[in-house]
Amino acid sequence: MDYTYRQILKWGDKREEKVDPLMIKVIREKFDLKDSDFETKYLSGSQPVILEKPSSLKPHQLDFFKRLAGDENVQSDDFSRAKFSCGKFYAELLDMRLNLVPNPPDAVVSPKSFDELVKIVEYCNQEGIPLIPVGGQSSVTGALQAPQGGIALVLTKHLNKIERINTANKTVSVQAGISGPALEEELNRHGFTCGHFPQSFEYSTVGGWIAAKGAGQASTGYGKIEDMVVALKVVTPAGVIETKEYPRTAQGWDIFRLFIGSEGTLGIIVEATLNIHNYRPQNTSYASFIFKSFEQAVAGMQKIIQCEYGKPHLFRISDPDETDIAFKTKGFDNSFSDRLLKGLGFLPGKRSLMFVAVEGEKDFTKFVLNKIKRTARKGKAMYIGKSPVKKWIDQRYSSAYMRDPLMDMGIMSDTLETAVTWEKLLKVWYAAHTYVNKRPKTVLMIHISHVYESGANLYFTFLSPMEKGNEKNDFADFHKGLVDTIQENGGSLSHHHGVGRVLAPWMEAHLGRSSMAVLDAVKKHFDPNNIMNPGGTLGLK
Ligand SMILES: Cc1cc2nc3c(=O)[nH]c(=O)nc-3n(C[C@H](O)[C@H](O)[C@H](O)COP(=O)(O)OP(=O)(O)OC[C@H]3O[C@@H](n4cnc5c(N)ncnc54)[C@H](O)[C@@H]3O)c2cc1C
Repeated sequence: MDYTYRQILKWGDKREEKVDPLMIKVIREKFDLKDSDFETKYLSGSQPVILEKPSSLKPHQLDFFKRLAGDENVQSDDFSRAKFSCGKFYAELLDMRLNLVPNPPDAVVSPKSFDELVKIVEYCNQEGIPLIPVGGQSSVTGALQAPQGGIALVLTKHLNKIERINTANKTVSVQAGISGPALEEELNRHGFTCGHFPQSFEYSTVGGWIAAKGAGQASTGYGKIEDMVVALKVVTPAGVIETKEYPRTAQGWDIFRLFIGSEGTLGIIVEATLNIHNYRPQNTSYASFIFKSFEQAVAGMQKIIQCEYGKPHLFRISDPDETDIAFKTKGFDNSFSDRLLKGLGFLPGKRSLMFVAVEGEKDFTKFVLNKIKRTARKGKAMYIGKSPVKKWIDQRYSSAYMRDPLMDMGIMSDTLETAVTWEKLLKVWYAAHTYVNKRPKTVLMIHISHVYESGANLYFTFLSPMEKGNEKNDFADFHKGLVDTIQENGGSLSHHHGVGRVLAPWMEAHLGRSSMAVLDAVKKHFDPNNIMNPGGTLGLK
């Protein structure tokens, strides 16, 4: 094992992924790079981890955790503290590359059971020790940092089992530290699917999905995570909350909903019961379309979702910049078919791809797909077969590995996302491009991937050469400007990444003071001593 910053910053299984030669060609063209720019890894982070801040836990406190959870489940060495000090936000990865660990926890503890976890929460509450619940660490909002030190409470090591698949109720009850693949494989064996597939699926957990209020790539059909949760068991400093499994209720508020999106600030989600769905991949119907412009693609998408003949599960459109880069990196640019498309008026810089997959009963998927094809054609789209969307699905998790080698080349690469009503969607899209176009050598690709009758999300991916020597400030300024632009033009603060510490400065303006006061009051109730993920997450203290 390599105890370096690089070992922490890299995504997933930590492999040294290479950038595809076609992608390198695009990067060279866009950013005017030379061979020498690819020879060494920029800010590789290959140095061993050494922390400046010693652990501030007192010896008797460390002893308590070791006696309770066992030595093998408590770490306070530099590498472990650094490893659990962050998620995968670009600025956190940059810090690692610069050998900076600004907010490490004092120790990392992995409880073996529910009872141990309850005792840890009680003890931390008495002693005033901060607790940060940790799932798969794929947060992209700075939500796992420990600015006040404390314990990184890891659920993935032991609290990661399926408790019950209830075929009568079509629900599954799991411990919150279970990962996407572990859940999905077991459900598939029983003929079910969870229907939640974020791009981080392989390395994120049910607890993290709920705490950050995530969305999977098939959310248009299956819903976001908040549509899937039926009941929760949560350990808070004010006691254990266990909600019961009912299809719906009317006895006041649904208390479990307070914890969806709570980002570890109220308590630790230990168990969750989720709705599940029939698993019938052989019935899925696929279609890919191309439109002459993004505006036409958006109009087509809006029509399809509002027709009420059944929804696609996966539903995406890529704007012209994302479409052009997809054509180039998939080797389609200037092919015979590409020339044909151009001849028919589907021009680079304007055309937009749409991908659709409908799941369910065979007759249903065929019926919905035929309807979608008809609506898309009426909206002036051309059907381009099943294979583009199928290829995209095959590679949907591997593209997460691209960011590390891009950063090795000195390229800033990050994402932002928002939700916006149909009437404001194009305004936000134009405004984001106008903002980004002001920065030289910067690529902005935008897609829509979660679609509702009243609107959709917009997902922004930007790439630009780092400003060498001023990487952090340059990124922070650019990122702030883009968030401001999205907000000013009517986009929500987040659609599925959550808020964390990164978007917290916008929270009050986004919600309004009166709504923020509700969050403060709920926080005070469950966590009167402010030990749960304190120091800024969600704009709380
Ligand atoms: C490459 C990449 C792609 C991504 N794609 C998507 C996507 O498609 N859709 C999407 O929704 N998100 C996506 N994300 C963001 C991230 O994966 C999600 O926010 C995810 O839900 C976090 O889950 P996690 O288990 O990794 O949680 P963590 O990152 O460990 O934690 C996230 C937050 O939840 C809290 N938390 C975690 N577990 C618990 C618990 N049991 N109880 C209480 N609080 C808890 C933490 O304290 C923290 O505040 C992506 C991230 C990356 C890096």
